[in-house]
Amino acid sequence: MSTEKTVAAPVTATSPDAPKTDVQRADVQRDFVRQIIRDDLAAGRHHAIRTRFPPEPNGYLHIGHAKAICLSFGIAAEFKGWCNLRLDDTNPGKEDPEFVEGIKDDVRWLGYEWHDLRHASDYFDVFYRAAIKLIEDGHAYVDDLSADEMREYRGTLTTPGRHSPYRERSVEENLDLFRRMRAGEFDDGSKTLRAKIDVTSGNMNMRDPAIYRIRKVTHQNTGDAWPIYPMYDYAHCLSDALEGITHSLCTLEFEDHRPLYDWFVDKVDLPNHPELWQSLHDAGFESEPDKPRQIEFSRLNLSYCITSKRKLAQLVNENLVDGWDDPRMNTLRGLRRRGFTPAGLRLLIERLGVSKQNSVIDYAILEGCIREDLDATAARRMAVLDPLKLVITNLPASHDEALVFPNHPKDESFGTREVPFAPEIWIEREDFAEVPPKGFHRLKPEGEVRLRGVGIVKCDEVIKDADGNVTELRCSLDLQSRHGMPGADRKVKGTIHWVSAKHGVATEIRLYDRLFNVAAPDDESDGKSWIEHINPDAKRTVHGWLEPAAARVEPEQRFQFERLGYFVADRTDHRAEAPVFNRAVTLRDTWTKQAG
Ligand code: ATP
Ligand code: MG
Repeated sequence: MSTEKTVAAPVTATSPDAPKTDVQRADVQRDFVRQIIRDDLAAGRHHAIRTRFPPEPNGYLHIGHAKAICLSFGIAAEFKGWCNLRLDDTNPGKEDPEFVEGIKDDVRWLGYEWHDLRHASDYFDVFYRAAIKLIEDGHAYVDDLSADEMREYRGTLTTPGRHSPYRERSVEENLDLFRRMRAGEFDDGSKTLRAKIDVTSGNMNMRDPAIYRIRKVTHQNTGDAWPIYPMYDYAHCLSDALEGITHSLCTLEFEDHRPLYDWFVDKVDLPNHPELWQSLHDAGFESEPDKPRQIEFSRLNLSYCITSKRKLAQLVNENLVDGWDDPRMNTLRGLRRRGFTPAGLRLLIERLGVSKQNSVIDYAILEGCIREDLDATAARRMAVLDPLKLVITNLPASHDEALVFPNHPKDESFGTREVPFAPEIWIEREDFAEVPPKGFHRLKPEGEVRLRGVGIVKCDEVIKDADGNVTELRCSLDLQSRHGMPGADRKVKGTIHWVSAKHGVATEIRLYDRLFNVAAPDDESDGKSWIEHINPDAKRTVHGWLEPAAARVEPEQRFQFERLGYFVADRTDHRAEAPVFNRAVTLRDTWTKQAG
């Protein structure tokens, strides 16, 4: 992978989440979607590029949606066009205003702003008028077949469909029946408006698909105004056309729907039929209708992840996780709370590029992008997760010193901070070994180690409790090895981090890991349900110590705790006086090593 091509624009320390709208990037990224757009612009087909992101508000967005968002919003920005956020709310009863707010929040968090916020339900009148036009033009009919009968008449992939006995109703009869469907005269499911296309088509989507169905369900935006609701394939393409979307980017499963998409766009022909949408314009809606082009790209699939809203909802509803924003969830809210960064996610999407090739991306690549971003943007701090007391015996007990540490080893703009130091400190229990394994370079009885920023200590005495557990190490500090002293350069093999016991702030730390312990939890070929692959150790809570500068921080501030990983102050639970941190990602990839 060429690094020049994929390196992210510099992210500044002051605004680590700043979106990158560098127009140059459109030239750098040469995927087939951007190439189509460049060609369309060169051929003068459009004045401006308009895209949209059309989620259904029936759940929170997940990591897969990040790809669709970065593409549609990113491309619009690169080509100086715009992107709408459109809530596809054609399925009443399943949609919740809570999800609408969540979706808006998540798109903004990823760094994007929409041109217009739209709902498919804004266009219900237009869809209805367009359906009347289709009937008048002989392109649609009201069918009385039940859903089961319709399925049977439709045929299969290997057998052609049959004409419904209602297919040849007159235009007048169809208009009358459709108006009465709209007036609420018929029961749910008793009639359907269908497109009259070709029941023998090799493409099942073209076998007289449904346009409207009767559903007497209250809609969250339109209330009880409509007893009939348009089907997705009909509403989506017409919404695109109405908003003047030029390039409608969607995932590959819609490829077979494209002929139908184009059929509705052509047959309704919104640009040439202002009578269908004039009332919207009169009400202040400004977009000029256009002929949109649907372009499909492959979904983002990640190992160790579930990207189905239904399954994510099941995890929440069955209390297998602590809500949609549980840091183990690969929802955008979960990843956010986990400490993942918008820039890191955008970097992933940019690196993977866009193609029509389906593949599963290794979760380690996502973690690598997060690490890469956090390495550049997260200040360093010291924390101890599994504390063991270390007492320096050759300093007076009252010794109290403020050491100055750089906040970032590679970037001076992060400045420095004071780290208080006193003779009693906490070190990581695993940094001491009574019987050290081969190659162990940290502290052992009679051994020496450098305490980061302090100097070299020697372990003189190991104190144990009645059960033989080590409770305290008593050490002497080589005063000549301290900063500015002649022996400051003296080398020892190991350097460890620490927190002053007198100054440290107690903290709760949640250590997160992957939610599933197999790469393909969805693969049920071994007879196990995906639920059985949940990793019981994906969340572990420990109690440790923070240097004071790590405690007095705002929720969502992210740090590298030296030698431990990247951590974020919990968005919900963190308080300066009772800190709570989540581990976003370890410093190194430990999974690939295990697997290999
Ligand atoms: P799910 O299958 O999880 O229920 P969905 O595709 O039904 O999701 P929508 O709300 O319809 O969810 O998705 C909005 C947009 O996001 C669609 O254009 C869809 O193509 C895109 N999208 C959904 N999942 C992915 C994914 N894994 N990778 C890329 N784009 C995706
Ligand atoms: Mg969908």
